[in-house]
Amino acid sequence: MSGDRGVLIDAGLSCKELERRLSLFGVEPPQIEAIVLTHEHTDHVRGARRFSASFGVPVYGTRGTLALSSLDGIETVPFPTSRPFAVAQILFRPFRVKHLAAEPVAFSVGLGSKRVGIASDLGCITSSVVDEMVDSDLLLIEANYDEDMLLSGDYPGFLKRAIRGDHGHLSNEDAGTLSRRTATERTEKVVLVHLSRENNTPEKARDTVDRHLRDAKKTAKVEVTEHGAAKGPFRLR
Ligand SMILES: [Zn+2]
Ligand SMILES: [Zn+2]
Repeated sequence: MSGDRGVLIDAGLSCKELERRLSLFGVEPPQIEAIVLTHEHTDHVRGARRFSASFGVPVYGTRGTLALSSLDGIETVPFPTSRPFAVAQILFRPFRVKHLAAEPVAFSVGLGSKRVGIASDLGCITSSVVDEMVDSDLLLIEANYDEDMLLSGDYPGFLKRAIRGDHGHLSNEDAGTLSRRTATERTEKVVLVHLSRENNTPEKARDTVDRHLRDAKKTAKVEVTEHGAAKGPFRLR
């Protein structure tokens, strides 16, 4: 949100649940000016079509993302990954990430003088991801799985390999590495997102990233999002 206007970055919940979660923060759907998608996977677009149709908001995405999302009859706005764009006085700088999707992106988001780095569904940490996220006031970083839980868990081998691969998801250790490399004195908080229900726990994610930040003498606080619960708001002054 910027003032009383805002944007949804991804819409992976049902429209009803999106409305419910917004209401927890005192936000009405008409205050939302757009949905901005990172990629076309269901856990990121589930409620986009219904929300957009119900409240008349456009859906932004890369051409690859829009082409593979079910958005019939919805106003869509394609954006190139190379150029920033603004919605609701929020500046979005998209950048490409390696994740097994058509044209996935993450964002560095500017709100006035404040910057928020938002990166979930990252296959791996590239130098451009670090460059785009470094020195943000707030970091939202994927901590998808605990390596031991994934390896000893029930997922079939091919799926374990896909998740751990360079186009899959970040482990807690990866999230720690990315946090350590991008957090600066300016960074107030690292919020861990996109935790696997099966292959992670909030405690393991928090402890791992905390350890990385402490080892690097970084002062950012770690918070963890949990399934089924809203987190925040995180206010930037
Ligand atoms: Zn995904
Ligand atoms: Zn996802």
